Amino acid sequence: MPSPRYIFIVGGVMSGIGKGIATASVARILKSKGFNATCVKIDPYLNVDAGTMNPIEHGEVFVTEDGMECDQDIGNYERFLGENIYAMNYMTSGSVYLSVIERERALKYEGKCVEIVPHIPEEVISRLSKVAKKTKADFILVEIGGTVGEYQNLLFLEAARMMHLKDPKNIMFVLVSYLPIPKKIGEMKTKPTQYAVRSLNSAGIQPDFIIARSEAPLDEPRKRKLSIFCNVHAEDVISAPDIDNIYQAPVNFEKDKLGDKILKKFEIRRREKDLVEWSKMLRRALFSRREVKIGIVGKYFGTGKFTLSDSYISVIEAIKHAAWHFSRKPRIFWLEAEAYEKNPRKIKEELSELDGIIVPGGFGNRGIEGKIKAIEFARKNKKPYLGLCYGMQLAVVEFARHVAGMNGAHTTEANPKTKYPVIDIMAEQKEKIFTKNMGATMRLGAYACRLKEKTLAFKAYGIKTIHERHRHRYEFNSALQNVLESKGLMISGVNPESGLVEIIELKDHPFFVGSQFHPEFKSRPLSPHPLFREFIKAAISKKKSKR
Ligand code: GLN
Repeated sequence: MPSPRYIFIVGGVMSGIGKGIATASVARILKSKGFNATCVKIDPYLNVDAGTMNPIEHGEVFVTEDGMECDQDIGNYERFLGENIYAMNYMTSGSVYLSVIERERALKYEGKCVEIVPHIPEEVISRLSKVAKKTKADFILVEIGGTVGEYQNLLFLEAARMMHLKDPKNIMFVLVSYLPIPKKIGEMKTKPTQYAVRSLNSAGIQPDFIIARSEAPLDEPRKRKLSIFCNVHAEDVISAPDIDNIYQAPVNFEKDKLGDKILKKFEIRRREKDLVEWSKMLRRALFSRREVKIGIVGKYFGTGKFTLSDSYISVIEAIKHAAWHFSRKPRIFWLEAEAYEKNPRKIKEELSELDGIIVPGGFGNRGIEGKIKAIEFARKNKKPYLGLCYGMQLAVVEFARHVAGMNGAHTTEANPKTKYPVIDIMAEQKEKIFTKNMGATMRLGAYACRLKEKTLAFKAYGIKTIHERHRHRYEFNSALQNVLESKGLMISGVNPESGLVEIIELKDHPFFVGSQFHPEFKSRPLSPHPLFREFIKAAISKKKSKR
């Protein structure tokens, strides 16, 4: 295929209807038909990246291999495609404006008047063509954040329109819209979608497909109505009813033959391939009945407008992938760390029943002693434990205090004056915090880690050097490494250049592992992450031995 095809995905009527999942699913379908596909996300806000946004407000911050802090949609693209997505595949209004303004300041526009149109859309187009060149993808799916009709994403629609004008055969538009079924009326309504198409039309864009999200499947009369009023063929209106499991979406779209219809419109012959592996995974996900119970100990009060599942999406998905791998149904328990500080009895009550415990990433003081208590419980009661970033750091604190006799040991993030700073600020981070230089300044993205043989970690990965993604400012204090090791803490992996401790574990425990990195970012439904896989495996066998 000579030139790449671009498929722009835009949202109509309201947000939160699964535009990201739709984008990722179309990419998966095209990949399963033997093509290379990649996804790009454009977010309309002015933040340059998602790193400075509160996860409670915005949902989880996802980190790419090359260290970009971005929206959780990128995580979905990676999970659905089973491939890494890089920083260049993500842009925000802020990052686009910043490039244009920086270029203007550097006299790169040669004295011209720099204007919002065409210079902003031109920057967007040039970024998209860089993605095309770099990835050599046959299909580039571009998800435009927000909803059509709002002021914020107009310039991105303008970029898409300009591309279409130049090369109409290689550009396609998909509108993901919502059809409400008001309770009192009891009937699916198409009018809001009609308006969404009108406003897309007024931006000079005609959708080729409408993915019709609703509580129920779309019937023929409604397809015909949308066809007439929205100027789209009835067969190009794809029914997308609510689903229990996001990974069902590609299979559902294929029921309406969306993949073949896209290829036909682009006049590309299909290659024989399908969703066999994907469907097998999905069957295990949908039909496994035996449970594995995992508790996530965090701080959850005041989760604002976002739900827990948004703030911890990669952790949840990683648990699911690993559980499904063993044909288990994961049951996740949200456990409030602060409650353990006020009422220590709760720890035993809540944690005894679980098959495994996770302390996920986090920042700051709130709930920290409760998390440490939960870790102590997991260590003493031989409950499988997986610590992710903060969860690793606090496992070191717990070990130092209660096994190594370092009374009052802490991370300097919580107590800068501790006598035993087992976790301390990274040297290069000190200055950044002092000067409040907070944007994209953590230790971010993938770093190498060399594993020690005969450790749980090495057994899980089966290779010596791994690359995992990071997002932190504090680290294991190497000055105290020898003492801790002499008391039995195992350092199972370090960074080969800096010697930074990346994984710790405990002997004489079925599974107690903490990683300074975030393994959850690299778990995919078709290839669960090794650490999550071994953690769930231990949780299951612990369950068996209980009987
Ligand atoms: N707050 C810790 C640090 O900055 C852990 C960060 C995290 O869990 N992502 O090092």
